[in-house]
Amino acid sequence: MSNEHELRVLNPATEEVVATVPAATADDVDAAVERAAHAQTAWAACAPADRARLLRRFASAVDGHIEELARLEVREAGHTVGNARWEAGNVRDLLDYAAGGAERLTGRQIPVPGGLDITLLEPLGVVGVIAPWNFPMPIAAWGTAPALAAGNAVILKPAETTPLTALRLAELALEAGLPEHLFQVLPGAGPVAGNALVEHPDVAKIVFTGSTAVGKQVLAKGSALLKRITLELGGKSPNIVFADADVEAAAAAAPMSFLDNSGQDCCARTRILVQRSVYDRFLDLLAPAIESVRVGDPADEQTQMGPLISRAQLESVRSYVDADAPGIRGKAPEGPGFWFPPTVLTEVAPDARVAVEEVFGPVAVVIPFEDEADAVRLANDTPYGLAGSVWSRDIGRALRVSGAVRAGNLSVNSHSSVRYWTPFGGFKQSGIGRELGPDALTAFTETKNVFISTEGPAQ
Ligand code: NAD
Repeated sequence: MSNEHELRVLNPATEEVVATVPAATADDVDAAVERAAHAQTAWAACAPADRARLLRRFASAVDGHIEELARLEVREAGHTVGNARWEAGNVRDLLDYAAGGAERLTGRQIPVPGGLDITLLEPLGVVGVIAPWNFPMPIAAWGTAPALAAGNAVILKPAETTPLTALRLAELALEAGLPEHLFQVLPGAGPVAGNALVEHPDVAKIVFTGSTAVGKQVLAKGSALLKRITLELGGKSPNIVFADADVEAAAAAAPMSFLDNSGQDCCARTRILVQRSVYDRFLDLLAPAIESVRVGDPADEQTQMGPLISRAQLESVRSYVDADAPGIRGKAPEGPGFWFPPTVLTEVAPDARVAVEEVFGPVAVVIPFEDEADAVRLANDTPYGLAGSVWSRDIGRALRVSGAVRAGNLSVNSHSSVRYWTPFGGFKQSGIGRELGPDALTAFTETKNVFISTEGPAQ
């Protein structure tokens, strides 16, 4: 077990100890913030092209260690090796993309009488990034890369269960030539190290990704200090399949839309809404697709789904699924490791706990709907609003429904939500603010307006 002094990292596929890591205290956070503030002053004074060059070197260092980082993620988080390679590559791409932003972070010139008015985008200072365990590398980079590019220093607090890839990224940053203390990684307990970052007066912004419950606490405490806060929280996203869709394609794509990363994905399409006239056909197609998902050793190239992150997560997922509940079930290994089979529940009331709460495991529900209005009503009947998919061959309907679903990331005839160059974030209780995309750097700046008089000095 982890304790207040150290974090024990377990391999979720075997339950073997991978590493133990010292846990940061509130004093460690104070010292890190002081060091970061010094480093940030010099970094902000660097020419944008120099910041960009160093971030590109950091990207190259990550690129040179994709396989090592991926294998580490397989061991600490149980991610399939294919996914883990993509995740390490995503860090590289984000750093590259943000590096270009450093050179393009421009203000505006606004016409005014009697002078010249310009806006400057200045860095915030020290930014705290608090990351979850489900995508340790990408989510750490979503905050870190644009914050650094915009001239800030970053202190990253990874999740208790997954500190290893974050620590390795910090080493690679130094090897690439980033100034010391500019990007620090402080593993530690959320209520200790995470909370200390949130309450620190010299941390200008918190980027928090995690559960809605903790996100609300972070918002309340950070707001008391008028901190800038971005929240990326939970989801319960709909996958809406209309009768006029390519139903075969929709059924083929549905399994990995909620089984990827063992369902530990904030964008997982866990509410499959199917028009009643194709409901039976959809289920007939879905059953073999679910049963054939390859669940097992995440280090095996053929594996599609690995274990859950921890025993606590396994117990939590189990609590949502009665053994005799009607539905479709895939296979999962027995023995050590935190395994749960792919599961689709049918005949579930829309207000059942499993249909309402974020399970964060390989569990979805299928619910029939009557018509477009009914589909939109069911899709929006949730406090969350992160993502959603619409399957239809009618382009007008696809666009109407994409417009009507109250969520930040919609996809049509696809389940793709995340690209580093398009914005990502939630409506309603799925979050506040946006990450990624062309405006990512701006979220790590303050706008300063400067008026320069062209009149002579007052006589
Ligand atoms: P969590 O809220 O338990 O923890 C997230 C992070 O917050 C961890 O680093 C944790 O140590 C820290 N933390 C915990 N208590 C804290 C406190 N009092 N003060 C400051 N920091 C604290 O979430 P989790 O279980 O690690 O992650 C799963 C959740 O994350 C899911 O709900 C999922 O939907 C969400 N998530 C959202 C997105 C998104 O982009 N919207 C992406 C991934 C995960």
